[in-house]
Amino acid sequence: VFLTLEGLDGAGKSTQARLLAAFLEGRGIGVRLTREPGGGLPEVREVLLHGKALSPEAEYLLFSADRSEHVRKVILPALQEGLWVISDRYLDSSLAYQGYGRGLPLPWLLEVAKGATLGLKPHRTFLLDLPPEEALKRVKDPDRLEGLGLAFFGRVREGYLRLAEAEPERFVVLDATRPTEALQAEIQRHLLPLLP
Ligand code: C5P
Repeated sequence: VFLTLEGLDGAGKSTQARLLAAFLEGRGIGVRLTREPGGGLPEVREVLLHGKALSPEAEYLLFSADRSEHVRKVILPALQEGLWVISDRYLDSSLAYQGYGRGLPLPWLLEVAKGATLGLKPHRTFLLDLPPEEALKRVKDPDRLEGLGLAFFGRVREGYLRLAEAEPERFVVLDATRPTEALQAEIQRHLLPLLP
């Protein structure tokens, strides 16, 4: 089972991913917790977060190179071992940030993504939905990618919501302003039918 967490910076994805991994492990399920960017090529995370400013196209291709390695070397092997994979961000982040946020055309993003992901899609994607004002408030240490402001975050959020609307069977949209424990309980509730 492949699960992803998505949402704006500061939405609490990594906390929820960690709590979820602990919950599943407590149920005797083997878990591989991973994240993007950097899940496939950790060096690329450095370039994206702390390198010089890039064109949106170059940025997307770097995210894709990382994702390509991530899928082939980490996610698919773990799934083949029978582990549940939880990824903090995946392709939907690129569709939301580089697509809706930076304005790259979705058809091109999806074409490149076919090669990068080998068509692998998450079984469930938890979208931790947050108003852009709240996301900006929660970001303590803004890096280059986060320096794009309220309008950018607004487009990314709208993009996420559209992606979720287009695939209601995969996406679970959650209000990320709710307390951590309540959010986690909600995530666990959605996964009950998938548990062995
Ligand atoms: O989620 P995390 O903090 O690891 O993301 C790192 C940074 O990369 C964030 O600032 C996020 O806004 C940015 N990002 C991006 N495009 C993506 C994924 C993440 O701009 N596809």
